[in-house]
Amino acid sequence: MPVAFSTDISPFSEWLPLRGNHLYIAGPCSIESQSQLEKTAWGIVKTGHVPVLRAGVWKPRSRPGQFEGIGIEAFGWLKKIRRDTGLRIAVEVARPDHAIQCLEHEADIIWLGARTTVNPFMVQEIADAISGTGIPVMIKNPVSPDLRLWIGAIERIHMAGSTKLIAIHRGFKTHQPSVYRNIPLWEIPMELRREVPDLPLICDPSHISGNAALLEEIAKQALTLSMNGLMIEVHHHPEKALTDPEQQITPKVMDDMLSRLAAIPPRQQMAETLDDLRRHIDENDHELLAMLAHRMQLSRQIGELKKRKNEDIVQPGRLKDLFSDRRQKGASLGLNPDFLENFLQLLHDESVRIQSDKRPGEPDHHKPGNKDL
Ligand code: PEP
Ligand code: MN
Repeated sequence: MPVAFSTDISPFSEWLPLRGNHLYIAGPCSIESQSQLEKTAWGIVKTGHVPVLRAGVWKPRSRPGQFEGIGIEAFGWLKKIRRDTGLRIAVEVARPDHAIQCLEHEADIIWLGARTTVNPFMVQEIADAISGTGIPVMIKNPVSPDLRLWIGAIERIHMAGSTKLIAIHRGFKTHQPSVYRNIPLWEIPMELRREVPDLPLICDPSHISGNAALLEEIAKQALTLSMNGLMIEVHHHPEKALTDPEQQITPKVMDDMLSRLAAIPPRQQMAETLDDLRRHIDENDHELLAMLAHRMQLSRQIGELKKRKNEDIVQPGRLKDLFSDRRQKGASLGLNPDFLENFLQLLHDESVRIQSDKRPGEPDHHKPGNKDL
C-alpha cells in the first residue's frame, strides 16, 4: 500500500544542479582540519561528477574516547569551501541542536544517520527543530533491518514541512557474520521503493562495504537496481583518516569508479526477475560461507582447548545430542532429511579433521564420527 505523502516529495533534479540522471554525493567521513577539507573538496569538485559535499562535523562513535568531530568551528571552513567551489554542503545531525547549528550556518542539506533514525524520540526532536524551514533532509536507514522505523522517520520529517527528501540505504547490522561491514539486504530498500515510489533513493556503498575493495561492486549493484545515486566517503589521504580509514577512497579512485559505473544501463523493471533471485542467492551463499568459516574457527578453538586440558576428544554423547538437535531443527525448517544427513556428516568430518590437526585429504582414523561437531 503506497504511503500517502509519497506524491508530495520533490524530485532532487528540481532542487540540485545534477550532472546526469544520478546524484553523487562525496566527501570525508569527518572533517579533521581545514587543509584536509580543502584538499578533499577540491579533488572532488575537479572530477565534475559531484554537486554535493558530505562532511561529518559531529561524529557518532560506537565507543567513547575516539575522535568525535571538530564541531561548530568546521562551519567557517565549510562556508569558505562552499563559496570557493560551488559545492552544496550536507552535514549529519544527531541532535536538535546540531540541526539548529546547520540552519544558522546555512548548510544546504542535513542528514539523519543510522544511529539516529533508529530512535523515534530523537527523530521527532530533530523534526521539531527544523519544522517549517523546509530544509532538505536525507534519511539513512536505521541500523537494524526495520523498514517501518525507516518510513516512520521519513514521515516525521515530512510532517515537519520538508518535502525535499532523500532516503539513503547504508546496510544493516545483524547477528550474522558477513564480508560486509553492514549487510545490504537489498530487499528492504526495494520494498521502500515499492511503498514510497516517488522518494529518491541513493546508496552509501562506503558504510555497506566497510572497505575500499568491495565498494565498487556494491555501488554497481545499487545502480543496477535503479537507485538514484550514491553517497561515497572520500578523503584526500584515506590511510591517515581519523574515522573509517578502510572504506574511504581518494577523489581520483572515485572519479575512475564513477566513470566505469556511468556505463551501466539502469534497469527499467523493478519486478522480481531471474536476476533478482540470483542476486538473493549470491548474497545468501556469501553469508553461508562466512558462517561456515566462523563455525570451523569454533571447532579449532574446541580442539585447542581439549588438547590443553588433555581431555579425551571422543565424546559420543555430545555428538548424538547434536545430531538429534540439528535433525529436529532442520526438519522443522522443511529441509530434506537426506540432504541434512549428508550435510551434517560433511560438517562433522571437517570438524574432526580440524580438531585432529590433519591436513585436508589425510586419512581419518577416528571415523566413524566420535568427536564434537
Ligand atoms: C557517516 O555517514 O559518516 C555515518 C556515521 O554513517 P552511518 O550513519 O550510516 O553509520
Ligand atoms: Mn563514516
